[in-house]
Amino acid sequence: MIQLHQKLAAPAPNKLTTDGKAESDLLKANYDAGERDFKFKADIYGHPQVKDSLLTLQNGKCCFCEAQINHVSYGDVEHFRPKGGWIQDSEPLNTPGYYWLAYDWENLFLSCQLCNQRFKKNYFPLENNVNRAKSHHDNISSEAPLFIHLTNENPEDFICFKDEIPVAINGNLRGDTAIKHTGIDRGALNENRRTNLNPIRDLYELAKGIPETNPDLQQKAWNKVKKYFDESKLDSTEYASMLRSFFKANPLP
Ligand SMILES: [Zn+2]
Repeated sequence: MIQLHQKLAAPAPNKLTTDGKAESDLLKANYDAGERDFKFKADIYGHPQVKDSLLTLQNGKCCFCEAQINHVSYGDVEHFRPKGGWIQDSEPLNTPGYYWLAYDWENLFLSCQLCNQRFKKNYFPLENNVNRAKSHHDNISSEAPLFIHLTNENPEDFICFKDEIPVAINGNLRGDTAIKHTGIDRGALNENRRTNLNPIRDLYELAKGIPETNPDLQQKAWNKVKKYFDESKLDSTEYASMLRSFFKANPLP
């Protein structure tokens, strides 16, 4: 996971500011009229305009695992704060959920279908459940969610990689919660990351092993490693967070 800088700066797609806004206003009015059982329109939050924007702003990558989203499967729109109901721990579903954020741009991300299947769903723990916003009259800024918000926060402050395996930095709770509930530590994905990392690590070891008596060859090898290092800095690079962890542990000379 990396921070989605481009999404942070991008305006909401029209579909959300028009139909989404109208639908949100309706849900809020219904809440005030006593309604608690809400239905949501996937054709608004999952509209091609919304998906296309997210796909572009996320550089074609899943917001969780950073794999390129298959253009055939096209990915799934995820709500950071769950729209239908929430779970703090392991209790039954609390309803309503964050109905007023169902069409809120800041609350929407795009994941691959495999991450979607393992995604937290309605689990949305807070540091202190007493501060939870339970309707549109409450302020979400008083909440301290355990999940990492992928535009407002930098997941790399919480999660690093030991080789291809994601690890919570110093065992921190927020990193640990994200790893457990987003599926970024699943076997097939770890294997993909390993396949991606191996040739880079091999090249790094090779460059390190070239004796100083052969400075030309040494320089050539480090130049090749540096290409990967530079790529790891780009948000568009697949598995960038893993590669950044590698180069943090294995700096260039
Ligand atoms: Zn994914």
